[in-house]
Amino acid sequence: MIRTGKQYIEGLRTPREVYVGGERVADVTTYPAFRKPIESYARLYDMKHDSRYTDILTYSEEPGGERYDISFLVPKSKEELKAKGRAYRTYSRASYGCLGRGPEFMAALIAGMWESTEWFEQWGEGGAQKVADYVRYVRDNDLFLTHALGNPQSDRSKPSHQQANPFIHLRVKEETPEGLVIRGAKQLATAAPVTDEILVFPNGRQFGPGDDAYALCFAVPTATPGVKIICREPLVPDDRRNVYDHPLSSRFEEMDALVVFDDVLVPWDRVFFHNSLAAANNMRFMTGVAAFSGHLSIHRATVRAALTVVTAMKLCASVRTDVFPNVGELLGKLAAMYKAQESLLFRCEEEPRITDTGTYWCNGDAMSASGLLFPDFYTTMLEVIKRTGAAGLMLTPTLGEFSGDIGELANTYFAGAEDMPGVDRVQVAKLAWDLAGDAVGQRLAHYERFYIGEPMFVSSFYARSVDMSLGRELFDEIIAEGRALHGAAGADA
Ligand SMILES: Cc1cc2nc3c(=O)[nH]c(=O)nc-3n(C[C@H](O)[C@H](O)[C@H](O)COP(=O)(O)OP(=O)(O)OC[C@H]3O[C@@H](n4cnc5c(N)ncnc54)[C@H](O)[C@@H]3O)c2cc1C
Repeated sequence: MIRTGKQYIEGLRTPREVYVGGERVADVTTYPAFRKPIESYARLYDMKHDSRYTDILTYSEEPGGERYDISFLVPKSKEELKAKGRAYRTYSRASYGCLGRGPEFMAALIAGMWESTEWFEQWGEGGAQKVADYVRYVRDNDLFLTHALGNPQSDRSKPSHQQANPFIHLRVKEETPEGLVIRGAKQLATAAPVTDEILVFPNGRQFGPGDDAYALCFAVPTATPGVKIICREPLVPDDRRNVYDHPLSSRFEEMDALVVFDDVLVPWDRVFFHNSLAAANNMRFMTGVAAFSGHLSIHRATVRAALTVVTAMKLCASVRTDVFPNVGELLGKLAAMYKAQESLLFRCEEEPRITDTGTYWCNGDAMSASGLLFPDFYTTMLEVIKRTGAAGLMLTPTLGEFSGDIGELANTYFAGAEDMPGVDRVQVAKLAWDLAGDAVGQRLAHYERFYIGEPMFVSSFYARSVDMSLGRELFDEIIAEGRALHGAAGADA
């Protein structure tokens, strides 16, 4: 099935334990800091029912059959891979690339688990069937998941089992006939308070000898007894911002949370593996989770980069600083970064990896290159906005000034080049500030740096696995030439 926005919101009324500012939130759907972001997520659900988007965002297994979000599809052809890409672009455009963790993100990720069900079989818990059943359940009910992969930072110099409190990192406390009783915390679950389910698995190579009790993968409903969601301080505390003054931050703040599992019972059919360091440390690298979710993320990042670069250009054009060659040089570099990102995305879909089971994965070399380079591209884009926007980013009165008594005065003195009315020039600056200066924009930049997981693990895995065949060929040729000389010299002697 595909849910409507209203059905999604109704689902959020299931009582859950969410804390913000030291208080328990009685109803997340009416909580002022969550209301607008929930509306933004709900809109993504509604789009699936909109005849303009239904064929792009959903699929069915047979003609006229039940429709599902296409993010769940395991693509078996290049056309299907590109169809998923079209959907990701459509979703990303709807939030201007500002919602990193909309429902489609985790739908895409668990499709990567579905594709790799056989991988889960080897850990001896019937994982393949359990994963397949779970993904089907999530797809059939069109659920919104978050994931919580990391351990609390506590003391990073020590492994999980040597932390001062052995239960600070989530671990198995007890095995019972019904399932695992777990205790401890996981982070950082974006959107957790407004989701239906929480998936936990380790991201990267977190665990070493002695950490077996910490090495597990499972899913529970967000509203499970004992699950406590502790949110960070909201960056936008209420729902009063408007889209002129805060075009992005008024509606796209994604909450981040620590999830505490306080003796939570996870039924066996929801335990995909446990007690396995090998499974925990390799799941990210050996299954489709990173490739499938990365496909969505590269679309989202590309959409936001497009908006960010054009905003930088418009900002400069609004006061004609773009006529200066030094500013032009900066803008040209941003455009080049955008084009590099766009080219990586193109390669992802045009040169996919076809697995033994006939699944089409995004080109991993290109996707990871984007994941590793984009944070620096994006930081540069924001820096150029700040350097070129200068005072204009600060002098941004509200819409009230332009529509109130001093409207004419404000329009005159905040005017831009070529008689651009103040209200129009300031609107451009406000968008630029929402991207580059506002706390929500800063969080998005931080997100770009870390969403792919711990960069050191991702980057070092990339160094070992990336296709560098031309470089290797050239290197071997030169070494062989030198060796031949060396060998010849030796023979002469
Ligand atoms: C905005 C945002 C949203 C996020 N959303 C999600 C989400 O929805 N779900 C989710 O699961 N995660 C999410 N994350 C978490 C993200 O995956 C992590 O931030 C990322 O994996 C890095 O882990 P960490 O933050 O624990 O950093 P740490 O591991 O604590 O690293 C901090 C620093 O210490 C260094 N360091 C740490 N350990 C070692 C070591 N052993 N050896 C050498 N150096 C080390 C690191 O290189 C880094 O520079 C999000 C993060 C952000 C910022």
